[in-house]
This record gives sequence, C-alpha cells and structure tokens, in this order.
Amino acid sequence: LLGSDGGLGITIFEEVTALAQQHAAINLGQGFPDEDGPQEILEAARTAIAEGANQYAPGQGLAVLRHAIAEHQERFYGLHVDPQSEVIVSTGATESIAAAILAFAGPGDEVLTFEPFYDSYGAVIGLSGATHTTAPLRAPDFQPDAAGLEAAFSERTRVVVVNNPHNPTGSVFTRPALELIVQLAERYGAIIVTDEVYEHLTFGSRHLPIASLPRAAERTLTISSAGKTFSVTGWKVGWLSGPAELVAKVRTVKTFLTYTSGTPFQGAVALGLGLPDEYFSSTAATLRKKRDLLGEGLRAAGFDVFEPQGTFFTVVDAAPLGIDDATDLARRLPSLVGVAAIPVAVFCHEEGAEHTRSMLRFAFCKKFDVIEEGARRLATLR
Ligand code: PMP
Ligand code: GLN
Repeated sequence: LLGSDGGLGITIFEEVTALAQQHAAINLGQGFPDEDGPQEILEAARTAIAEGANQYAPGQGLAVLRHAIAEHQERFYGLHVDPQSEVIVSTGATESIAAAILAFAGPGDEVLTFEPFYDSYGAVIGLSGATHTTAPLRAPDFQPDAAGLEAAFSERTRVVVVNNPHNPTGSVFTRPALELIVQLAERYGAIIVTDEVYEHLTFGSRHLPIASLPRAAERTLTISSAGKTFSVTGWKVGWLSGPAELVAKVRTVKTFLTYTSGTPFQGAVALGLGLPDEYFSSTAATLRKKRDLLGEGLRAAGFDVFEPQGTFFTVVDAAPLGIDDATDLARRLPSLVGVAAIPVAVFCHEEGAEHTRSMLRFAFCKKFDVIEEGARRLATLR
C-alpha cells in the first residue's frame, strides 16, 4: 500500500513504479528522465571503463571532478571553493544529505526541514536520533512563510535543510525567503544543508544558491548531483561543498557509509560540468516546454495546477474533480486510466498531510509523446 513498506524499506517512488509496471501505465511518478544525457559524457564513462578506471577512487573523489565542481560553482555563481579541502564527491546527493545530517545532528538536537520534504530527509533524521521539526510550505506558491519559519526554529535546531528548487512542489525560493533562512540559522547557530539537485532546472530566473547570500557561506553545505542535470540518475554521482572544517566532518561520515563512489562515472561528470552554457540553457528550455505541455493536459483533465518554477514536477489539486483523497487516487490511477503519480501527502507528517490530502505530483521529465499520451489518458478521468 502506498506509504507503507511493511518494513522492507521500499520507497514511495519504487512502489509507484512497480504499480505502473503492473498496469503498463505511463509512469509520471518516480522522477527519472526517459532519455539519457549527452552522448559525450556517456562515451566518456565507457572510455573510462575501457581504459581501466575501475578500482577505488580516492575517498574525497577524483581530483578532476573536484576541480570541475569548484569551477562550476565559480562559473555559475561566483562562489569560490577549494577543490582540495572544500569539496567531496558522494554516491548521489542522497549520500551527501545523509552524511551531512549524521555529521551534525544526534539525540537531543532538532533538524528542521520544510514540509512537504523529500523522503530521505525524514528517514536520515530518524537514523540520526535527532528530532525532525518542520516549517510549512503552503499552496498556491509553496514559499516559506516568515512566521511559520521563525516558530519552527529553536535553541536546539542544529541543522536546517533547504531544498531549492523544491521537490515535490516545484517552487523556487525567493531571495527574501532565503535571506530569512540565513538570518535565523545565524541567530540559532544552525548549519544550513542545502539540496540544490535541480539547480539547472529552473524556468524563470537563474538559480540563486543560498551559499551566495551575505554571511551564508560560512555555515552552508551545498549539495548537488549529476543525476538531474545530465539525465543520468542511475550513475549516482553527487557532491557537497562548503567550509573546510564542516566538509571534513561530513567526509568522516562518508568514509564509513561508502568510503568512495563510482570511479568511471566521475571523470565523465567532470566533463559534463564543463559543457558550454548552451547545454544547460537548452536543457531547461526543453523541460519548460514539457512543463507547459503537461500543465495544459492536467488543466484540461480538470485538476487545479500549481505551476512549478523549477524541478521536473508539477503538483495539482484533485479537489475540483470531486476527489479528496489523492493517496487513494494514486493507488487506483494506474489501473483506472493507465497513469502513475505520487500523492503529495507522502512527503509530509500528519499536519502537512491534511493540507495536501487532495494533491498529486506528476513528473514531466519524459518524452513529449509520452506526456501527450499521459494527458490524453488523464482526460478520461472526468
Ligand atoms: N534530493 C532531491 C530533492 C531529489 O529529488 C533527489 C532525487 N532525485 C535526490 C536528492 C537524490 O539525488 P541522487 O539520485 O543524486 O542521490
Ligand atoms: N528524486 C526522485 C523523485 O523524487 C526519485 C528518487 C527515488 O526514487 N528515491 O521522484
């Protein structure tokens, strides 16, 4: 059943993918592209394997990738990071998120996330023994709300986890919202762990890393990943950067989680990070067209659509269709119309789940004809 794994550790994404397969449904649930990334980086990984890059990489990651990450931060955001002491490569963003939370939070501490929140945050905070507190992001714009955020911070807040652009809602946090987070983190002495895996998938203004705001860099660990930017989610190459003394602590945890990450993919991702601006802008432009195509289909099917400003997800409200329980709908949708989606309530604790009860998340990182067919099938819901 959606949201209950019977202790098997199955994520909601796997569960919906299994349901989609069972019913030969169009899978707009789990967020993975249905086309692979740029040929030159796929070729670089093949070459690396052929040329023998098949044994352990250094624990902190291959130097070529750490340099490429540092150059990327400088090129896109003007952020200076030292590739030797301020960057580590991880097994996906997921491992950086886990290592950062485990490095800084434990029993008696609080880790604050926004809600809805990406599933791994809640799970890792649980593993750390810390208490998970949340600040709400509410429809229609899913921006942090100042009063809610201030109320969520306390003297025990050790880490605040930011996710911008935000999964599942597709919101891109405004500069004042990011400034408020920095101000509160400073006031309470908290570390900011920011998950920016969708940094290159924005549809309006350019991505603004929280680390680039005044007084933020000294307390911020920035995480990203190759999966989304280069459409290689199966490679699981991620990274984290920030002040050397904080990065060193994360690296200690990373050493005993996985030690090191996929050697042949690291050089290929380094190549990707150095691709011309045109690659990054055209990827976002294509995705924006897909967002618009799906949005049109969802509106025609009768949903209220919250237009995303980033990520590859669109959240809708099914209430106008007379549907009040989107978890139940997500369970039935693959057999009913042959489309799979994720209920937003699975990204929430109880109170947030009440607010998002009738909401569903659809992924649009799919081929245009797949989105069209998905929309056609959803139109039969009315
Ligand atoms: N953070 C967010 C917000 C995500 O949506 C995802 C999933 N793609 C991840 C982290 C995980 O990234 P990775 O596959 O690189 O571990
Ligand atoms: N990040 C992707 C999503 O939100 C999938 C990640 C996963 O399967 N764990 O759908």
